[in-house]
Amino acid sequence: MSMYINTRGNAEPVSSCEAVYSGMAPGGGLFVPRSVPRYSMEELQTLESLSYPELAAAVLNALMDDYPGPVLRDFAAKAYGRPAWGGDAGPAPVKMIGGGLGFLELFHGPTAAFKDMALQIMPYLLTYAAQRTGDGKEILILVATSGDTGKAALEGFKDVPGIKIAVFYPNGGVSPVQEAQMNATDGRNTYVCAVEGNFDDCQNGVKAVFGNEEMIRLLDGRGVRMSSANSINWGRLAPQIVYYFHAYFALSQQKRVQWGAPVNFVAPTGNFGNILAGWYAKQMGLPVHKLICASNMNHVLTDFFQTGIYDRNRPFYYTNSPSMDILISSNLERLLFEMSGRDGEMIRDWMGGLAGKGRFQVGGTVKKAMNEVLWAGFATDEEGSDMIREIYEQNHYVMDPHTAVGMAVYEQYRNQTGDETLTLIDATASPFKFSGSVLAALGHPAAERNEFETLKILSDFTGEPAHPALLGLEERPRRRFCRRDEMEPMILSILDSDSGTD
Ligand SMILES: *Cc1c(COP(=O)(O)O)cnc(C)c1O
Repeated sequence: MSMYINTRGNAEPVSSCEAVYSGMAPGGGLFVPRSVPRYSMEELQTLESLSYPELAAAVLNALMDDYPGPVLRDFAAKAYGRPAWGGDAGPAPVKMIGGGLGFLELFHGPTAAFKDMALQIMPYLLTYAAQRTGDGKEILILVATSGDTGKAALEGFKDVPGIKIAVFYPNGGVSPVQEAQMNATDGRNTYVCAVEGNFDDCQNGVKAVFGNEEMIRLLDGRGVRMSSANSINWGRLAPQIVYYFHAYFALSQQKRVQWGAPVNFVAPTGNFGNILAGWYAKQMGLPVHKLICASNMNHVLTDFFQTGIYDRNRPFYYTNSPSMDILISSNLERLLFEMSGRDGEMIRDWMGGLAGKGRFQVGGTVKKAMNEVLWAGFATDEEGSDMIREIYEQNHYVMDPHTAVGMAVYEQYRNQTGDETLTLIDATASPFKFSGSVLAALGHPAAERNEFETLKILSDFTGEPAHPALLGLEERPRRRFCRRDEMEPMILSILDSDSGTD
C-alpha cells in the first residue's frame, strides 16, 4: 500500500487517506510518499491516449492506492468533465506559439486559475478519506490564500456535506476581481474573511491554528476536526502531477516531441506547489530536462537556488502577480527533504531557523543536487508587462501577469544557457482575471478603469471571449474582517454560525 512519511521524521508512516485527512503531518511537517512509483517509457505509452479524467485516475491510483481504482475514476470523471471546464480542449490544453515554445493552459476551470486543477477533485478525495479513516467528526477546512486558492477551494467544497470551509485572504493583497469572486460565494458552508496583513500572515495564522493544542482540544469537544486545502495537503498536490504527464502526451501526439525526448517546464511560482508537482512527475519517469522556477520581485526562491541561503528578512512587495507574493514557500520543504537524503533532523533544523531567524542555509551538496533539475530567476512587474506586449504583438497570444513572469524568466534562461529544449510555460491564470494589468501592458488607454469594466474592454480589444466565470462579477462588500491575532476567535464564531452567507 502507498504509505506517507513525515518530512520532519519521527512518525509512523500513514496511508494516503490518512495523509489527506490530516492535511499536515505532526510537528509541523508535511507528508510525502515513502516511495515514489516510477513508470518506464513502455508503461507511459499505455497511458498516452487516455482522456484527462482517465489519466488522472491512473496517476492518482499509482500514488494513492488505498483509494480504489473505480472510486478514483468516478471522482476524476466528476471533477474534470464538463460543464465546469467548458470548451472542447479539455482541462489542460497545450498551445504552441512556435520556436520550441508553448503554453500549458491550466486556467479553464470554474474560477479561471490553475488552482481548479487540484481543487475540483480534492473535495472528493478528502470526503472519501474522512469516511474511511475518520471518526464521524465535522471537518473544518482552513485556507490561507493569496487570491486564487480561496475561490477555487470555495467552489470545490461548496455545499459538501459534513464540511465547513473558512478562507482567509490578505486585506488589500488580492485583486478586486479575486476579492469579488471570493465574497460572492453562495455556499451554505463557505466563509470568507479578510485579514489585516499579507499572505504570509494569513498562512502563518492558519499554520498556528493547526499547531495549537488548545484549539484542537476545543474543536474536538465540539465534534470538529481541522484540515487544510492548501498545497501543504498531499491531496492538493497529487492531482497537479497529472497535467505534466498530460502535457507531454499532448506534445507527443502533436508530433512536437519525439517519444522519450525531454522537455522543460516553467512554473510561475509562489508556494512551490505547481513546480514541485513537476518534480514528482519527473521522479515518476516523465522525461523532464529542467524545471524553471519563476518568481516576481519577492524572489526569495531565486536567491535560494542561486546561493543556498533562504532568507525571508527582506521587503515584501505587492506586485501585479499577487498570487506569487509570498516569502515562505511551504512546499519547498518537501523538495528539501528529498534533496537532503530524507534527513528529517536536518529539515527540523532548517525549518527551525526559518521560523526563528527567518533564515537557513543548505550545504553545497544539497544545493548542487537542486541545481541539477531546477533553474531559477525573477522578473519585475515592468519586465512582465513588456513580455505581455511583446508576445501579443508577435504571436497574438495574451498572457496574464503571472504567466508573463514565467515567460520573462524563460527568456533569461534561454539567453544564459542556450538550451533549446522544447519548453512549456505553465499558464496559471486567465488574462481576464487581471484585465487591468494586461490592458496597461498592451498600452490601452482604458487600463485605469475598474477591473469589472476592463474585463469587457480587454475582450473587445483582443477579440477573445472573456472567461465565463468572470462575467457578471461586481464589487462586493467584505463579509468578514479580522486582525492577525483574531483568527482563532473568528474561527470559533464561524463554527457557531449556521450559514456562510449570513
Ligand atoms: C497559486 C498561483 C501561482 C503559484 O503557484 P504555487 O503552486 O503556489 O507555486 C502562480 N500563478 C497563479 C495565477 C496562481 O494562482
